[in-house]
Amino acid sequence: MARATSFLQLAELCAALEATTKKLKKIELIRDFLHHLQPEEIAPAVRLITGHPLGGKISSPGDSRALEVSWHTIQRVLNEQGDELSSSGSFSILDVQNYFNNIAASSGRGSRQQKEKLLRELLTSMSDVEKKYLIKIIFGEMQHGVSEGVMMQAIAKAVGVGLEQVRRAAMFMGELGEVAKIGLQQGKEGLAKIEFQLFRPVLPMLAELATDFEQVFKEHGGESAFEFKFDGARVQIHKHGHEVRIFSRRLAEVTESLPDVVELVQKEVRADEVVVEGEVIAVGDEQKPLPFQEVLRRFRRVHDVSAAMQEVPVKLYLFDLIYYQGQSMIDVPYRQRWEQLARICPPHLLAERLVTKSPEEAEQFLQKAMEQGHEGLMAKALDSLYSPGSRGKKWFKIKPAETLDLVIVAADWGYGRRTGWLSNYHLAARDEKSGEFQVIGKTFKGLTDAEFTEMTQRLQQLKVKEEGSTVYVHPQVVVEVAYNEIQRSPQYKSGFALRFARIRAIRDDKSPEQADTLLRVKRLYEQQFQRKARRIQEVNLLSEG
Ligand code: AMP
Repeated sequence: MARATSFLQLAELCAALEATTKKLKKIELIRDFLHHLQPEEIAPAVRLITGHPLGGKISSPGDSRALEVSWHTIQRVLNEQGDELSSSGSFSILDVQNYFNNIAASSGRGSRQQKEKLLRELLTSMSDVEKKYLIKIIFGEMQHGVSEGVMMQAIAKAVGVGLEQVRRAAMFMGELGEVAKIGLQQGKEGLAKIEFQLFRPVLPMLAELATDFEQVFKEHGGESAFEFKFDGARVQIHKHGHEVRIFSRRLAEVTESLPDVVELVQKEVRADEVVVEGEVIAVGDEQKPLPFQEVLRRFRRVHDVSAAMQEVPVKLYLFDLIYYQGQSMIDVPYRQRWEQLARICPPHLLAERLVTKSPEEAEQFLQKAMEQGHEGLMAKALDSLYSPGSRGKKWFKIKPAETLDLVIVAADWGYGRRTGWLSNYHLAARDEKSGEFQVIGKTFKGLTDAEFTEMTQRLQQLKVKEEGSTVYVHPQVVVEVAYNEIQRSPQYKSGFALRFARIRAIRDDKSPEQADTLLRVKRLYEQQFQRKARRIQEVNLLSEG
């Protein structure tokens, strides 16, 4: 019988991976390791190396939540051991995998002790390097620089196929262990056979933040499909006959928490075999959207679900179709996917949508979305295919800009089409302590030709000095500036910089003293940061559901 590979060998591989910074070297090390494994060891080894011992989905955090093992427990077990000399190499990769399965499986009364006992058995018979990586695997913190991308390259090399083929198989499988096993055992043909399967979720397609409508129309060839962007939780809904299962953005199953959505889909989606995608939002009185946190409460609830259904009613908006009657729709253009979706769903289940070539119509549609309490718009290229897990310019998200009233303190002479105009405006906020105006951004966007001409004359009259191509002016002209984000900036004395600033309006009704202060900029920056941090935290929680 072939010899089993020990966990010690895997731990030593991890140590070697950590010791090199070279990506190619890492790929070679993993490739060679995979080649020496027994067939049944391949999937577990890949999962252990990538820190997903239970076969957690791609892009999801580690499995420590599912294992329900805390730092505290590990610390206690390690302390008990003291300086006892421990043996090494007594566990195989498969043994460790079995231990992990057993730890995860033990639940209910006495499970904490049972989990601890299993951990103790493992740790007491391990050398330091084994312990180190066992603990890292539990917490999904490998730190050896083997991202999913690197692992996919190593698998491609080991099988002798291109990276694209492994990526495609991985997107359908949602997990790399099985892909590696099939690839190594059945080669290229085996990988080619991995296709979309009902009840096995694929990674969702993602969107990039657009700077403005101009960019959207340029990237999408002059026409785009705009949909309301709902501030809820994304769902991928698989349906076969009466059976419906729902998966979150991070591919965790959330069916149990959403019986109302299940029922809705059973009743209203007219297809026998289908996978649709949409957003679930919480609604209050008159079906008005509630903040994202509310819907999250529903997703996390597995007990007293019917009470929760009363407390937080939800509404479903569908926007895509990725599988239909035995066929994957991933390689079908968005235009047709939507048409098919519209054929099988009643209008009230569909995201509100507008296909247009006109920036003015798009702007009005954005206003409408905002008035109804939604987050903004999505813009989708009509000819785009569904690309699971990837973020690109085929899908843009458009969030309404925030605005600040700022003072023009200098301007650069333009070139090219803007020759002869003072066009790049240096925008400043007022330092409420010193009264000084401090620059937080520059822009040449937003004015019409006539406004540029007039502004050039005005600023020349306010000129204090000219240096190179920059004219410094008395701080007098106030403009309303839209932006997408405030960033920290080492470049400006103010410490802040606006991302994608553009002038919305010239505010002659305001004096420089009424312009926004640096303190307000700082506050907005912090709020933005808190919002982001909270959202990341919440999304992480969701994925562990
Ligand atoms: P973000 O989370 O800011 O990157 O925005 C992308 C998310 O917006 C998606 O993952 C969806 O959860 C959500 N979303 C809301 N409405 C739509 C829509 N009409 N099409 C696609 N995604 C949407």
